[in-house]
Amino acid sequence: MPRYAIISDIHANLHALCAVMEHALQQQGCDCVACLGDIVGYNAYPNECAAYIRSLQCPIVRGNHDEEVCSTDWGRMNPIARQAMEWTRSQLEPDHLVWLSRLPYQKLVDSRFTIVHAGLDQPKAWNYIINADDAGASLQRQFSPICFHGHTHVPRVYRRSNGLRAEEDSEARATLAAKGCVCIRPEPACKYFINVGAVGQPRDGDPRASYAVYDSDEGCITIFRIDYDIASAQQAILAAGLPAFLAERLTQGA
Ligand code: ZN
Repeated sequence: MPRYAIISDIHANLHALCAVMEHALQQQGCDCVACLGDIVGYNAYPNECAAYIRSLQCPIVRGNHDEEVCSTDWGRMNPIARQAMEWTRSQLEPDHLVWLSRLPYQKLVDSRFTIVHAGLDQPKAWNYIINADDAGASLQRQFSPICFHGHTHVPRVYRRSNGLRAEEDSEARATLAAKGCVCIRPEPACKYFINVGAVGQPRDGDPRASYAVYDSDEGCITIFRIDYDIASAQQAILAAGLPAFLAERLTQGA
């Protein structure tokens, strides 16, 4: 099987996407990419990020922002998200909109692993998986040993052994926080539901971009945190007239 870069929640942050892809392709030797959605929204480069992801011709699923930008039903969104959505919609080339509107909700890749943006139990409901019980509901509907997801912008590793409750791999969380990367070696008796974190808008207090490399031949999934040019991404947000809060939160990783 190829060596996959698993990326999620790019959110039109071209600086972060380029830094992650350089790391994945140049340093990690990835030869394939899988994308878990939310390509647009919040940051200043929706067309560039859509074009980049499309050029990869990789397995991809839709995120809620990809879906919402194709509608104009934004009544339930908070004002900042809505302002960003209106700006993104005004910028996006029609061809990218059509492409986003056709993305599937979930996908089995190479008959080996599944990708979904939120949860497998109700992928169209965009529920946030924030604990092991949430993950357990998704794991009930997971028919591959490994599923990658995003949506919360927080990297987490959940697993379930046969007949047992789902649990979070808290050791993986601690190692990632301490070292900026963590390698998970899946056990054959477990299923894994892994959030790879966000490329373009991390929300776990670490402003570095997050993504994973999956090499099934090595039997290893590694989550990495990657430095990128946050200042330039922030300048682009302000220059575009997007809300200043969207620039500030990139520094905080929140
Ligand atoms: Zn997102």
